Amino acid sequence: MKKHNFYAGPSILPEFTKEKVAEAAMNFAGTGLSVMEVSHRSKEFVAVMDEAIALVKELLKVPEGYSVLFLQGGASTQFLMAPYNLMKGKAAYLNTGSWSSKAIKEAKLFGEVVEVASSKDANFNYIPKNYEVPADVDYLHYTSNNTIFGTEILEDPEVPVQLVADMSSDIFSRPIDVSKYGLIYAGAQKNLGPSGTTLVIVRDAALGKVERPIPTMLNYQTHIDKESMFNTPSTLPVFACLQTLKWLKENGGVEEMQKVNIAKAKLLYDELDRNKLFEPNIKAKEDRSLMNITFIMNPAFAELEKEFLEFATSKGMVGLKGHRSVGGFRASTYNAMPVESVQALVDAMKEFESKH
Ligand SMILES: *Cc1c(COP(=O)(O)O)cnc(C)c1O
Repeated sequence: MKKHNFYAGPSILPEFTKEKVAEAAMNFAGTGLSVMEVSHRSKEFVAVMDEAIALVKELLKVPEGYSVLFLQGGASTQFLMAPYNLMKGKAAYLNTGSWSSKAIKEAKLFGEVVEVASSKDANFNYIPKNYEVPADVDYLHYTSNNTIFGTEILEDPEVPVQLVADMSSDIFSRPIDVSKYGLIYAGAQKNLGPSGTTLVIVRDAALGKVERPIPTMLNYQTHIDKESMFNTPSTLPVFACLQTLKWLKENGGVEEMQKVNIAKAKLLYDELDRNKLFEPNIKAKEDRSLMNITFIMNPAFAELEKEFLEFATSKGMVGLKGHRSVGGFRASTYNAMPVESVQALVDAMKEFESKH
């Protein structure tokens, strides 16, 4: 049976990526060796790293003066690396969910955190607006897509300071204006590749301004100077990310992804707004994520939750159970998800409705 993969992360990858990884697992770039058993300093792997970095720059139109890195430690390590490297004394944070909250906790170890706004009062089911960002902070940190709660900030915020963003779950889903950012980071395992590597895009001129000593491995400059090869990079995950980047380019880049992502999300939200059994978790339409669509049973049909999950599972759908802090369901519709899988979910909801 065809599987429809709605997992939030690690999550669906393009068939292309999986095929190329499977090939290279046995014979990488004609070496007769696995991509897992060649030196990261071999000319074949250096070419992989170089091409991956070049494609990130091309697809996101990264301006001059920025470095692209593939690091380890997940987005969670970026929660501390960002303030370690960029926060002189005071930084602003927008609190839109669990990941933002974790980033705030780490930043507090390095200086004063101004929490400009929070949607914690409503279990993070909306994006705060009209908040003030003080002009004397080193940056505003925000989470562009709240993977757990299902809200998303779809436009680069307009603020008087540089932006720092956790784009783990929506990077490459739409065009962004990189010039507004001092730093962008994203764990690969949502919209780019397997777990094990973290994409970082950093403005070179944003670095070197803090006075504290920074341990070598946590200093962006270390990795810039050695082109992500200061120590052994995650060779297999970086190889896989490169395949997804090639697939992205082949399929029209981030502009085309955005169109398809809007269409997929509309298909599902329209059904959630219509179907009497279900309701979308996020009521403010402009805050709804295009990547992680959270929904619950209409309270009048709450007892059908388990039955629907089993019904969807019987139709090949996996990963639909919502995060424990929200409950209900979550359908992750990342770049690699074909519209057919979203249609299959919508069809299942209609069929389930007709039975009840
Ligand atoms: C998954 C996720 C993280 C955590 O990433 P790790 O790579 O597991 O550390 C952080 N932020 C967001 C927005 C995420 O979706």
